[in-house]
Amino acid sequence: MFFRSIRKLSNLVKEPIPRVCIIGSGPAGFYACQQLLKLSENVHIDILERLPVPYGLVRFGVAPDHPEVKNVINTFEKIAKNSRVRFMGNINVGQDISLEELKDNYHVVLLAYGSDQDKLLGIVGEQLGNVISGRNFVGWYNGVPSDKDLKINLNVEEAVIIGQGNVALDIARILLTSIDDLKKTDITSYALEELSQSEVKKNCTTIWRSTDFEKIKEYLPQLPRPKKRLMELMLNNLSPATFDDNKINNKKLFAPIFYRSPKEITGRDSVEKVVFSINDVVGLDFLTADAIPTCDEEEISCSLVFRSIGSKSVQIDESIPFDLCRGRVINSHGKVQNNLYATGWVATGPTGVILSTMTNAFQTGNSMKQELNVSDHKAGTKGLIKVLEKKNIPIVTFENWEKIDKAERDRGKLLGKPREKIVDVAEMLKVAFS
Ligand code: FAD
Repeated sequence: MFFRSIRKLSNLVKEPIPRVCIIGSGPAGFYACQQLLKLSENVHIDILERLPVPYGLVRFGVAPDHPEVKNVINTFEKIAKNSRVRFMGNINVGQDISLEELKDNYHVVLLAYGSDQDKLLGIVGEQLGNVISGRNFVGWYNGVPSDKDLKINLNVEEAVIIGQGNVALDIARILLTSIDDLKKTDITSYALEELSQSEVKKNCTTIWRSTDFEKIKEYLPQLPRPKKRLMELMLNNLSPATFDDNKINNKKLFAPIFYRSPKEITGRDSVEKVVFSINDVVGLDFLTADAIPTCDEEEISCSLVFRSIGSKSVQIDESIPFDLCRGRVINSHGKVQNNLYATGWVATGPTGVILSTMTNAFQTGNSMKQELNVSDHKAGTKGLIKVLEKKNIPIVTFENWEKIDKAERDRGKLLGKPREKIVDVAEMLKVAFS
């Protein structure tokens, strides 16, 4: 009799379920979630997202003319539909809910909220008209709600992009790609309309300046194989034609220029010119040498400047240990402190691609494994919903997002493109809850 009662009681006192909350639904958040599901048979995971739509930079960063990169969404969809996972959109952590409130309801919190604040050049003239943040421009053509009203004049002949990373190259390509090709992508219609007003010419020629490559020839044998092959490719394509020759031919031109540091942007109200210091490479080993500005300068006339020198993360909650200088969460291999982890660009800074973000997220998932042996009960989703209900914050579920997804695809069909993104949060919510 006594033993039977104990058995009955132990059936009632269930094993506690490890409850994890992931902040951010970009690649880092989804891949970490995938790894945690693999590591634990009973973990329950909620993915919180600031916007009513998931996938972070896969939706809002990856260029519209690279649709194959977005295929990772198929994997993320499967993860979101796992019965132990819940996507919860329209929750801005730090504003709608504090980290403390999340810690009260979950055993572990994983910060995966990316890095979306622009780095500044810190030079005179940066505030002039038509000096545009590369990130905002990307957000504008990709439908980020806060970038949809970007003030930009594309009706110009010459644009300068400062920076030569992937984002800079995406911007150059979008400016140089024909409107007919862009029309078939998921680029926003308003961006397409504006881009068609800019100077459209038929061909695109790349101009490499042979003077930029003089030193490289000398160092070529020392370079590791992939860099060496890349350099050889560029050296074989150096063109005797100059920028001005080609301008006369009325072609679209792409001119990568090296060894330059922006010094000043000048103009009356809007940009007219960028002044660059010409740099010299100082050091014995080319790969670790520094680029040091000399007293020589080069001026480039232009009516549009993009600043594309990277981004920083923000400290969304003052209790998060944060390196303000480098703009990322302080962590050691993903661990921030007990029960608090960080992964993806918020932890590593904005470097690498989806693949490297995935590797990082898998590693962070592995280091979180020890936290999944829990002995106490936490409320998880139910607790979170209670807090948000009190604050009248509507939660967008994955099913709600699928309504937005369908509406966007349907609108796209009418225009002969894969999707026409909804760019207004209020409209997203209206469709989500329709
Ligand atoms: P993100 O993708 O930025 O995801 C972070 C998520 O957190 C976002 O959804 C954001 O809305 C959410 N969030 C932010 N703050 C909060 C908050 N307070 N509360 C709740 N949620 C929040 N890689 C490739 O492999 N191929 C490419 O072609 C490619 N193109 C790129 C183009 C651009 C312009 C950029 C910037 C990057 C590109 N990348 C590309 C890199 C790739 O996008 C990144 O490696 C990856 O997105 C980083 O993932 P993440 O999850 O750390 O950040």
